[in-house]
Amino acid sequence: MRNLSIVIIGAGPRALNVIERLCWKIKENPHLPAITVHLVDPGVAGAGAHPPDQSRLLLTNTLASQVTSFSSINPEDPRSGPSGPSFTEWARAQGYRRMGMSYEKAGPDEGDPIGDLDYLPRAMLGEYLAFSFRRIVEQAPARLKVVEHRQLAMEIAKGGKAVVLENGSQLAFDGLIVATGHCETMPGIEDQKRLDFVNTQRDKNPRLAYFPCVYPTGQLATIDPGTTVALQGLGLTAYDVITELTLGRGGRFTGTAADLRYHPCGQEPKIRLFSRQSLPYNARGINQKGVDGGHVARFLTKQAVEVARHKRRNETGDSRLDFEQDIMPLLRKDMAFGYRSAKLGMEPDVDGFQPTDEENAIIDRILFPRHLLEKPDLASFRRDIIAHMREDLKEALKGNLSSPLKAATDTIRDLRAGLSAAIEFGGLLPHSHAYLVEQFIAMTNRVTFGPPLIRNAELLALIDAGIIDWAGGPGAKVELDETHGCFTISTPFSKGLTRTKADVLIIARVSGHRPMQDKRGFSRSLIAHDLARPFRNGDYQPYGLDVNRSLRLLRQNGTPSPNAWAIGYVTEGARFHTHALPRPGRPSTQLQDAKILVDDLLETLLSEPEHSIQTT
Ligand SMILES: Cc1cc2nc3c(=O)[nH]c(=O)nc-3n(C[C@H](O)[C@H](O)[C@H](O)COP(=O)(O)OP(=O)(O)OC[C@H]3O[C@@H](n4cnc5c(N)ncnc54)[C@H](O)[C@@H]3O)c2cc1C
Repeated sequence: MRNLSIVIIGAGPRALNVIERLCWKIKENPHLPAITVHLVDPGVAGAGAHPPDQSRLLLTNTLASQVTSFSSINPEDPRSGPSGPSFTEWARAQGYRRMGMSYEKAGPDEGDPIGDLDYLPRAMLGEYLAFSFRRIVEQAPARLKVVEHRQLAMEIAKGGKAVVLENGSQLAFDGLIVATGHCETMPGIEDQKRLDFVNTQRDKNPRLAYFPCVYPTGQLATIDPGTTVALQGLGLTAYDVITELTLGRGGRFTGTAADLRYHPCGQEPKIRLFSRQSLPYNARGINQKGVDGGHVARFLTKQAVEVARHKRRNETGDSRLDFEQDIMPLLRKDMAFGYRSAKLGMEPDVDGFQPTDEENAIIDRILFPRHLLEKPDLASFRRDIIAHMREDLKEALKGNLSSPLKAATDTIRDLRAGLSAAIEFGGLLPHSHAYLVEQFIAMTNRVTFGPPLIRNAELLALIDAGIIDWAGGPGAKVELDETHGCFTISTPFSKGLTRTKADVLIIARVSGHRPMQDKRGFSRSLIAHDLARPFRNGDYQPYGLDVNRSLRLLRQNGTPSPNAWAIGYVTEGARFHTHALPRPGRPSTQLQDAKILVDDLLETLLSEPEHSIQTT
């Protein structure tokens, strides 16, 4: 029996979960061969998409108390207690304290202690993940060795048995794990057109610039004060841009979230917002459910999804679901249940629960805010959007149990098990999968997975200070204006077309992984060597590499790859919601995925004759 060589590409949170699980397996089973894990990533091991050296102004949108990298001491027994600190516990132990609006290491008499309701900077999350990696590796059994390679993986070699690194060296593997998460994407046709436009028109307008990707946000330092910046996308990435261009330039906020004021520093550009619908994200309600509390799914459960599948199979011979017809009514019912519970101050009887007409109308208004979208001109759109943001902030300040509206939207966070059962591994009809990716995810991101409420308070203060405004409304489009050498954002309102000119266009969006557009070429090489294929659902191709339920990469003909697995965000497409981090005290899909992958990997590799286990 010789050592197993496992190569993991990408050293983000998911790789961490896999290494922790391998440690557990080796501790548990003295008959397993020694394992060498080669961890390949140019970045800080553990941190992944959260580099510790990024701006400390950028916040996580997850409460730090609800983030952990560690499983239970005995992963099979959640009652055995956590094997490591949560993000908050680590931050406190490191001496971090809240100093006004920032977080710094400080003495016990300075600032305030970090509490369970703090959203900490992503740079600190990177430090925490790097600490978690070191700790897991330090405590690894002697028979598990982790070798770090601070390199990019470029391609597959030796007929699918080795990986070529950026420096040309090759790593042979028995098993390959792809955990490349948020891979960088090559510029698309539209991006290239805009980049060419900037290159040819800059003599007319020296401020002209195009940023197809926001990260690293340090690149935005090249934008001059007074420039007009059109920011496309109003999600979490947009908040990073706004923070960088205001607070990051020396501006200040004073007051509280309920009444915040911005004091400009004079270095800010003018920021003009728009997106497909040009609707802002709703703020997260203050968490009143405790660190491990949450909504218990009553209607959108795994069992209900199974019943819906069974019905479809009986009626049509095809068990794939139609998301809008089969799942949305269940989701709306859970939302209504959350809404009524908050309104009554107690849970209603589940049996026979039906949303009232009034509750249905309220949920419709949350999910499909036609009252905000159908406006005659930009002035009225802008006025009503700002009024909506102020109302939404008031609700968020009441909390996710006290505000019926926030209680309703917060239920969606805890419906992931049912949603995954419906969506994953091609569980939806292709047209319905397209609806999910292109409509539903954007909608729930806007209503449920928005920023910490302080970010919307800041947005309102920046609007009051004249730094931020709307560039357009629903259906806004970008045009290239060769006459003036600028971008134009045009919106067709019923009273006529509105046009806003901008020197700089920033795309504030983190898109899913498109294997054929992987900037590094690694996913393309996996596909070229028939270790993987892009995920497709019929004629719809969303994102990600295709995997089966054991997280084995699937080859061109749909058979499992003999020696390659994938985990995390790179599989979003076949999987759903792979980007959340594990929560302390709650069952975790991420940790469960690591278990599934490691079990299958060891079983597969150990069934090969040269690795078979010696039991004496
Ligand atoms: C800007 C941003 C903010 C986010 N904020 C939050 C948040 O606040 N809360 C939350 O829960 N989630 C957040 N996420 C979601 C994020 O997906 C998860 O937190 C988590 O990082 C996903 O883990 P992962 O291991 O799948 O991928 P990643 O964290 O993306 O790690 C993948 C790693 O693979 C490496 N890699 C890629 N290609 C190669 C290659 N060819 N060779 C070698 N290495 C390679 C990358 O360098 C990276 O380190 C955020 C994501 C982004 C992009």
